[in-house]
Formats: sequence, C-alpha cells, structure tokens
Amino acid sequence: MITSRFTGTDSNGHSHTAVIVSRGDNQRYVECHSCDYQRRVSWDARGTAESHLWSEHNVSGTHRQLALGPFIAAGFGLLLVLFLMSKTHAL
Ligand SMILES: [Zn+2]
Repeated sequence: MITSRFTGTDSNGHSHTAVIVSRGDNQRYVECHSCDYQRRVSWDARGTAESHLWSEHNVSGTHRQLALGPFIAAGFGLLLVLFLMSKTHAL
C-alpha cells in the first residue's frame, strides 16, 4: 500500500516520483519510480524520499500528493504496536 507519494521536477523538466510503501510487518519502504532505488526505512521516510530525489535526480522541490503524512502513519503504527504489546503482556 502506498502511503505517500512525492513528486518533483528536475532542471530538465523531467518529473520524478518516489513513494513510501507500507508492507506487512509494519515495514515501510521508499521506492523511486525513476530508478531502481529501494530502501527500508524505520522513520523519516519523507526525508529519505526527498533527499533521494534531491541528490540523485536534481529535483529542486517536491510536493506530497497524499494528505496522510508519514509521521502520522508512523504514530498510528507505534500506537498499534504498543496496544498489541500491552495485550500480549496482559495475557
Ligand atoms: Zn531515483
């Protein structure tokens, strides 16, 4: 599931897109659609995605296309983990 999508335009007018993908086990990955870049991230997925676009594709600025921020998603994920942990320990 793609939770966030970042696009930006380089100096040649080409647009580049990096997405944050959520998979099972609460793992999140940053994937670039312009190259084969793929990296598992534990936090600050947005920073990872944007810095890749800036450094590898000379993108001057990015904008996020979905409203759900990675920090919010991470917060919910953390709450879910804490909730599940508390249930486990209660047993
Ligand atoms: Zn790339």
